[in-house]
Amino acid sequence: MNPYANMAQLRSGLDNGDFSAEELVHFYLGRINAAADLNCFITVDSDRALAAAKSADKAIADKRTGPLTGIPIAHKDLFCTEGLLTSCASRMLHNFVAPYDATVVDRLRKAGAITLGKTNMDEFAMGSSNETSFYGPVKNPWNQACVPGGSSGGSAAAVAAGLAAACTGSDTGGSIRQPASFCGVTGLKPTYGRVSRYGMIAFASSLDQGGPIACTASDAGTLLNAMEGHDPNDSTSAIAEATDIDSSRRPLKIGIPSQYWNDLDSSMAKVLEAARHTLESLGHDCVPVELPHTEAAIAVYYVIAGAEASTNLSRYDGVRYGHRTTSPENLDDLYQFSRTEGFGSEVKRRILTGTYALSVGYYDAYYLKAQQIRRLIRQDFLDAFMEVDVLLTPVSPSTAFEREALIEDPVGMYQQDIYTTPASLAGLPALSLPCGMREQMPVGMQLIGPHFGESSILSLGCQYQNETDWHALHPAYEHD
Ligand code: GLN
Repeated sequence: MNPYANMAQLRSGLDNGDFSAEELVHFYLGRINAAADLNCFITVDSDRALAAAKSADKAIADKRTGPLTGIPIAHKDLFCTEGLLTSCASRMLHNFVAPYDATVVDRLRKAGAITLGKTNMDEFAMGSSNETSFYGPVKNPWNQACVPGGSSGGSAAAVAAGLAAACTGSDTGGSIRQPASFCGVTGLKPTYGRVSRYGMIAFASSLDQGGPIACTASDAGTLLNAMEGHDPNDSTSAIAEATDIDSSRRPLKIGIPSQYWNDLDSSMAKVLEAARHTLESLGHDCVPVELPHTEAAIAVYYVIAGAEASTNLSRYDGVRYGHRTTSPENLDDLYQFSRTEGFGSEVKRRILTGTYALSVGYYDAYYLKAQQIRRLIRQDFLDAFMEVDVLLTPVSPSTAFEREALIEDPVGMYQQDIYTTPASLAGLPALSLPCGMREQMPVGMQLIGPHFGESSILSLGCQYQNETDWHALHPAYEHD
């Protein structure tokens, strides 16, 4: 069995009887077990995965299949899964078994996908390196000394190492796109509102979006089709037309924002220039555009995301669920010690800075100002999309960096998000896909579309992947 088969190949293998869903699940469980050193998984749900595989095999025999019937996937550990630990990679939730499924989990299961388990991540999705997890760092399968990116690092590394056909992730400021680029896989952050947030543990509610991490843009589209759609349980969920990939070659105008390209390191620029030429050779036209407020995006993002996190995380009080300190003397102790023990240092940093930005006397200077600049950033994109169909940018200033290189330097870590936070603040869909290698590590490019423009960025991604093989490269890492 080919561990790097994409979902389309697995679909035909299952439908033609080359292997059963049960064999496929056994195969992936074996690989997950053998790859324990990568630390991609927090929980593996073998028994239920095998039971689901048996039902999938019945459905396949009865020819009652959908695109995902029998396809083994894994969920980032911030999607609630009924009866299964949902830890958010935090000590605070190390004992939290969700009483219900997130909408994303429910929809994917109903579409026939099999859940292998829950993937590792940065604690409460705060981080860009997967080093803030209570369960330890994830290693990048391309080079185990390097980080896989974050916060959906376990999901991206699992897809890259062939431990699941695809995974879910979440992206608040880059957490699907940056790990996808560091691990050489394809990840999509949908338009804010396209995918329900119900049952997805909240970090920054005006930014959080669930989305797919897969081997190809086409697979990401297949997963998105199952995940997307209006959900009455999420009041910000949108009513929108379903995503429809069409790889016919309507020539597009592709915007090249100078603010994303000008300061690029020359070895990164070389790879991205080559990607741009490939897109031009497919008949698309690249034109320069300006997004003048880009520089402010990181500061704005970290004020807003911190502020929202500080309020969202106030629910962890040691009373209702999650970690509770032992033998407090009074109620204040209960709150204080439960939170002190339950949260890691990056989460505490966000709560402190977020609370500060919202406090009387600083609200206007930080939170309100950040909201105003967020509006300008959004307007930059709206103006650009009057001229062009999509935007082509890097995902990250570099390839995967070494573990421990930035963990003691929070601002340096935050600066990694320079190219991903603007689309998040504007609520736009953005696709990260592999477009080359630098010193044996994958480089990603980002296609940003207008609101609800997933169809065009995924279609363009499919065209690019029909023309190139970067998505078909796999790490030399092998564990069996
Ligand atoms: N790296 C960013 C942060 O730490 C983005 C995280 C995310 O998208 N969840 O906030």
